Amino acid sequence: MERRLAQKGVQVIVVEPGSLAEEAGIRPGDTLLEIHGEAVLDQLNYQYLITREDQAELLVQRPDGSTFEAFLENGGEGIGVDLAQDEVKVCRQNCVFCFVHQMPKGFRKSLYLKDEDIRLSFLYGHFTTLSSSDDAELDRIVRERLSPIHVSVHATEPEARIRVVGNPREGDILRKIDHLLAGGIDVHTQAVVAPGLNDGEIWQRTVEDLWARRKAGRGSVLSLSCVPVGLTAHRENLPVVQDVGPAFARDWAVRWTPEVRRYSKANGGEPWLLLADEWYTRAGIEVPGRAFYSRSWAQLENGVGLVRRFLEHSRRFIRSPRAKGFAGRRVLLLTGPSFAPTLGRVAAELNRAVGSHLRMVAAKNFSFGESVTVAGLLCGQDLRYAAHADRDAKGGRPDWVDAVVVPSASLRTHTGPTDQYTLRGVVVREEGTFLDDLTLPQLAADLGVPTVPSGANLSHLLDHLEAADRGAFQGGALRSTFHSAGMNQPQGAYNP
Ligand code: SF4
Repeated sequence: MERRLAQKGVQVIVVEPGSLAEEAGIRPGDTLLEIHGEAVLDQLNYQYLITREDQAELLVQRPDGSTFEAFLENGGEGIGVDLAQDEVKVCRQNCVFCFVHQMPKGFRKSLYLKDEDIRLSFLYGHFTTLSSSDDAELDRIVRERLSPIHVSVHATEPEARIRVVGNPREGDILRKIDHLLAGGIDVHTQAVVAPGLNDGEIWQRTVEDLWARRKAGRGSVLSLSCVPVGLTAHRENLPVVQDVGPAFARDWAVRWTPEVRRYSKANGGEPWLLLADEWYTRAGIEVPGRAFYSRSWAQLENGVGLVRRFLEHSRRFIRSPRAKGFAGRRVLLLTGPSFAPTLGRVAAELNRAVGSHLRMVAAKNFSFGESVTVAGLLCGQDLRYAAHADRDAKGGRPDWVDAVVVPSASLRTHTGPTDQYTLRGVVVREEGTFLDDLTLPQLAADLGVPTVPSGANLSHLLDHLEAADRGAFQGGALRSTFHSAGMNQPQGAYNP
């Protein structure tokens, strides 16, 4: 028997003038309780229910608690309402390498809240361990066809998984995955790999178990990525987890790169097993070529293929007439040590091609510890320090560069592009703010030169520099002028 989730209803915030909702007497402040007799759970569920049929039967509640029914001929379309933001579901697990547990003290509260939400998994590709998902929620995923879902498997061997997620009831991840697959839901999977925890035979079994669940047609495991564990300098009172150093990363890349190709061949040429860029950058070796990555760049947001895609785009861009827009520009590019060699190489190629003067500096992460090398976790103060050090090294002249570029990924917030979602009432998205609450305009004022986000590629970057030439990127101009692509990489991902 299908299990149902508890009824809550969703509040109406705006009713569009002249809309079906207005005609039906729905007003801001009312609550949509039911559509077709089914409880409305959240915005995603509203979309599913309202578009399911050509007519909609609504049960609406007034703020005073009275209710009324409305019948609308909506032709399977929305009825002209904006609904209240949904609360992000907060995770109650205890993964041994959870990044939130390793956060230094003093950041804003919302950064310490852990989200584990199947809606974010479906909408934005966030990974969920499914630990907070009971059978009713799995049924909902199937019923609303929220496919594909992104699942952090970590290990299929039950004892190993319990060790990783820190929950004795969550060893059997394959049961939950099988529930979704049987309902026709596709699943992208990942494992965060830590030496001695879920590598070796445990990893081998994870690969085999998930590969056995890949098939043609609906209800397939579409991919499995492995990402090296990320540890900060702030692991007080946490279980000991070994970091992935250069030697381990090299061994892993050497061992599994041929396997990626083997699985790809068996999968009709489409890569299925995916290795995150960090295996190569930590090992200090070149990322593989384009054919190594899926045609749709599956799991790009998880740091799989970002470096290769950036290199490919850059080479095309440098050959294009638009690249001349960089000519003569003196620009300081700040990034994390992981991405620095790639960005430095591209900057040198661009300089040679068009006569620009781009310089790359790898900023150390003093906030989380120097073991954290990804651009996305650099804080405003880390970038400020790196820019000041560069200016001092160049003689301290206030006009030592024409512009400073910061990684777009460092300007995103905890849960990504979640306009619709809040964490305990706090709107999560705050564009133009670093993790430590320094804002881009504050950093620009401190440095005294235009300071712009990188975007995801050189073309975005040039747009931003040209916008800065026009005086944009000051105060409130940020939102309307910048490319948000590359802003929302999950933690651990690269971004130029
Ligand atoms: S890693 Fe994710 S699932 Fe695990 S404890 Fe942290 S937020 Fe929860």
